[in-house]
Amino acid sequence: MAFASSVSPSMHGLLSNALSRESNATKKICPSTLSLSQRSPVSKMDLNCQWSQRKLLTFHACISVTDGQETSVENFPLPKGDNWSVHKFGGTCVGSSQRIQNVAQIIINDDSERKLVVVSAMSKVTDMMYDLIYKAQSRDDSYIAALDAVLEKHKLTAHDLLEGDDLATFLSRLHDDINNLKAMLRAIYIAGHATESFTDFVVGHGELWSAQMLASLVRKARMDCNWMDTRDVIIVNPTGSNQVDPDYLESEKRLDQWFLQHPSKTIIATGFIASTPQNIPTTLKRDGSDFSAAIMGSLLRARQVTIWTDVDGVYSADPRKVSEAVVLKTLSYQEAWEMSYFGANVLHPRTIIPVMQYGIPIIIRNIFNLSAPGTIICRPSINEFDNRQGLEPFVKGFATIDNLALVNVEGTGMAGVPGTASAIFGAVKDVEANVIMISQASSEHSVCFAVPEKEVEAVAKALKSRFREALAAGRLSQVAIIPNCSILATVGQKMASTPGVSATLFNALAKANINVRAIAQGCSEYNITVVVKREDCVRALKAVHSRFYLSRTTVAMGIVGPGLIGGTLLDQLRDQASVLKEKFNIDLRVMGITGSRKMLLSDTGIDLSRWRELQKEKGEVADLEKFVQNVHGNHFIPNTVLVDCTSDSAIASHYYDWLRRGIHVITPNKKANSGPLDQYLRLRALQRQSYTHYFYEATVGAGLPIISTLQGLLETGDKILQIEGIFSGTLSYIFNNFIGARTFSEVVAEAKEKGFTEPDPRDDLSGTDVARKVIILARESGLQLELPDIRVDSLVAESLRDSASGEEFLQQLPQYDQEMAKKRQDADDAGEVLRYVGVVDVVKQSGAVTLRRYRKDHAFAQLSGSDNIISFTTERYNKLQPLIVRGPGAGAQVTAGGIFCDILRLASYLGAPS
Ligand code: ADP
Ligand code: ASP
Ligand code: MG
Repeated sequence: MAFASSVSPSMHGLLSNALSRESNATKKICPSTLSLSQRSPVSKMDLNCQWSQRKLLTFHACISVTDGQETSVENFPLPKGDNWSVHKFGGTCVGSSQRIQNVAQIIINDDSERKLVVVSAMSKVTDMMYDLIYKAQSRDDSYIAALDAVLEKHKLTAHDLLEGDDLATFLSRLHDDINNLKAMLRAIYIAGHATESFTDFVVGHGELWSAQMLASLVRKARMDCNWMDTRDVIIVNPTGSNQVDPDYLESEKRLDQWFLQHPSKTIIATGFIASTPQNIPTTLKRDGSDFSAAIMGSLLRARQVTIWTDVDGVYSADPRKVSEAVVLKTLSYQEAWEMSYFGANVLHPRTIIPVMQYGIPIIIRNIFNLSAPGTIICRPSINEFDNRQGLEPFVKGFATIDNLALVNVEGTGMAGVPGTASAIFGAVKDVEANVIMISQASSEHSVCFAVPEKEVEAVAKALKSRFREALAAGRLSQVAIIPNCSILATVGQKMASTPGVSATLFNALAKANINVRAIAQGCSEYNITVVVKREDCVRALKAVHSRFYLSRTTVAMGIVGPGLIGGTLLDQLRDQASVLKEKFNIDLRVMGITGSRKMLLSDTGIDLSRWRELQKEKGEVADLEKFVQNVHGNHFIPNTVLVDCTSDSAIASHYYDWLRRGIHVITPNKKANSGPLDQYLRLRALQRQSYTHYFYEATVGAGLPIISTLQGLLETGDKILQIEGIFSGTLSYIFNNFIGARTFSEVVAEAKEKGFTEPDPRDDLSGTDVARKVIILARESGLQLELPDIRVDSLVAESLRDSASGEEFLQQLPQYDQEMAKKRQDADDAGEVLRYVGVVDVVKQSGAVTLRRYRKDHAFAQLSGSDNIISFTTERYNKLQPLIVRGPGAGAQVTAGGIFCDILRLASYLGAPS
C-alpha cells in the first residue's frame, strides 16, 4: 500500500492505539444484570411526561479479562439512571476560548449528581477538516497550510484556556495528532483518493481536541472529570447509505468497561466520532454530535439530555427564514423527528430514537440566553390533545429541504402490474440515491418521488436503463425529471387526521399563489409534505407559517400616492391598527409608501406615527418595480395588497400584472375600470380565476356602499333595471344650493371657494368624472360599454370649453346664468328641481350623464350639502320603492374610509374573524 510506506512513527503509534482498543474490546464483559431488565424499552406511548420520576439504577457487572486472570468486580456499582444528566454543546457553543470558558462554567454550575457532556468540534473546524481531505485528494498542496491553520487555531485556544502541565499535555497530543494527520493527508495526496474510513478518521479530530481542552478546564475547578474518546465506547455498523447504526449492546459493554477504568462523576465526551465493531474509527456523519448525546443518554438511562445550541429552542420554522417563528415549548418525539428529518437542523433526526425508547426527555437550550427555558421534547401529556381547540395547536412547525428534484415515472402500463414500485426503487437503490418522499396517484399511472438534486441524474439513467423495454413498448410513457424543487413539511401530532388542517394549509399556499408539484401525507399523522418550486419555497414557508402562527390575517400593504386621500388613509390606519390587531386579529403592515418622486420602504412595517417625517428623512428615489418587489417579496407576510390612491392611468395599467403576481389591489382610482373595455374585461377575468382580490368600492360614491350593494344584488340573483344617481359631491352641492335668487355662477364660485371643486371647475361640470362612474356601474351590471358610449350633457357651454383657465371660465360663466335660471324656473313651476345625474339603463344597455328634473318630494330633491344619492331599480326593488344609498360621497376622510373598508373586506376574505 503506497500509504503504508509513508507512515510516520507516530502513525505507527496511532495504529497500535487502534489495536490496543481492539484488545480492550476482546475483554469479556457480562451484560448488566439489573438495568436492562428494569429499563426495558417502552413499546407503546405512555401519555405522561414522567421524566422527573426516574429512579437511580444500580448496575452489577462481572468482568473477566483476556489475560486469564479473571478479576471479579461483582457488585461494583456502575450507576445508571436519573443521577446522570447528559449535555451536548454544539460547535457554536465552543466556537472560541471565551465560549469554551462559558461552557465549562455551565458544567460546573450544573448540580446533577453525575454528568456526561458531549462536545462538538469548535465551530467551523469540521468543515476545515473536510476541506483538508478535499484539498489533499485533489492534490492541492495548500492542504499543508490549511492544516497549519487548524493547528494554530487550537494552539491559540489552548494557550488562552490552559496553563502549566495541562497546557503542555494538550499541546503535545495536539502536535502528535497533527503529525499523524500530516502523514495521512500526504498518503491521500499521493493516492489522489481518500477512503471513507480515512476521511472519517481525519474529520473527527476537532471533537478530540475540543473535548480535551474542555475537560482540562473543568478539572481546573477541582471537579472529578475525565475526557472520553467515544471511539472507545460507541460502536456502530455502517449501513451503506452514509449512515451508521449503533450497536447498543456492544456500546453499553464498552461504556461499562470505560467506567471501570475512569470512574468519574463528570465526563467530557467527544461528539460525532465512533468506531466500527472492528475498531476502525468512523463518525456518526455530519451534525452527528446530537446523535452521540442521545446514544450516551440511552446507554446511561439518563434523566435528560440537554442539547445546547445558539437558538432559544426548536422554533416553529427556521428562524433564519421566518423572522416571526416562535419557540415551541414542547414537542413530542415524533414531532421533533419529523421536524429534523425535514430540515430543522437544530436537531439531528437520529437523536430521537435512542432516547425515545427510554422516555428520556431532550431539552434544547440556548447557551447565549440562559433565561430562555428552551424546548422540551418528550412524550405528550395525556391532556394535550383533549384540551386543544381550533386547528392551530395540531400544527407545530414547518421545515424545508432544498436542492431536490422530483422524478416522475409515468405510463398506463404501470397500473395493476405487481412489482413496478419495487423495480423503480430497486433501480434507485442501485445508485444509492436517497428517496426523501414518495407519492403515487391512485390510478397508479404515475409514481413520483423526490431525491437530492445531485443524485437525480444517476437515478434517471438507472430508471431509463431498467425500463428500456417498457419505454420502447410504450407501457411507460416517460421518466421525467423536475429539477429545482424543495420540500415543505408541516409537522404536528394528530394533524393529518384532523379535518381541516390540510384544507387550511393548501388554502394558505393557494392564496400566496404557490403551485404545489406533489403531495405526500403519510398515515403516520405527523406530517403533510408538499413539493414546491425552489424559488417559491421560502414564500411557501412564510405563507403557511403565518397562516397557522401569525394573526389570522397579516397583510403587507403598499400605498401608492400618499397625497390627500392616501395620506388620510395612512393616518386612519395609524389610528386603528392596534385595535384591529387586538380585537380582530387583523395585522396590517405598511411596507412601502411611494409618491411619484420619492418612496419609503421597510422590511418590517413603517411606523405610521412618523411616516411623513420618515419619508423626508429616509425616502429614496421612487422606483415602482422596486417598491412592488419590496412590499411583495422581501418579507415574511404572504398577503400583499397595493393600494393605489392616485388617479393615474399609468399606475392603473399595472393592476393586471400585480394581480397575476398574487398581489391584491384596492383603489379609488377610476382609470382601470373606466378605461378601455378589453383591458377591463381582462382584469376582471383574471380576478375571477385567481384567489387574488381587486376591490374598488371608493371609485363610486367614496365610502358609500355602492359597488358592494350592486354586487350583492347581482350575486343574489336580482336583476338590475336602472341605476340612477347623483354621483358627484360637487354637482350635488351646486344644485342643492342653486335655489332662490342665487345665480348658477355664484354657486359654482362658492363651491370652488369651499374647496368642493377641482381647481378648474370645468373638470366637474363637464360631466366626465360622472361618466366614468356611470361606466363603472354599467360594466359592473354586465354592460359592455366604452366611455364614448355614454351620452354626456356637459354643463360647460361650448363657447367656454376653450377658456384659458378656470378663473377665466368663472368670469365668463355669468353669461349663462340666465339660461340656467330659466331651466330652474321651468322646473320650479312644475313643482320640480334640477339635478345633474348619471344613469345606467340596463334594459336599454345605455348610459348617460344628464340634467334631469325631479319632483320636489323625490329622494333626489331632498339632498343637502354635497351628499351623493344612488337609487337602484331592480326586479326586487321596483320603481316605486327603489333601493337608495345616500350620504357624503366625496372628501378625503370618507374616501379614505371607503378604501379602509375594502382593506378590511380583503382581510375577512383572507380569513379574519367577523
Ligand atoms: P449546533 O452547532 O449547536 O449543533 P446547528 O447549526 O446544528 O447548531 O443547529 C442550530 C441552528 O439550526 C440554528 O442556529 C438555526 O439557525 C437552525 N434551525 C433550523 N431550523 C430550526 C428550527 N425549526 N428551530 C430552531 N433552529 C433551527
Ligand atoms: N462537528 C460535526 C459536524 O460539524 C458534528 C456536530 O457538530 O454535530 O458535522
Ligand atoms: Mg447541530
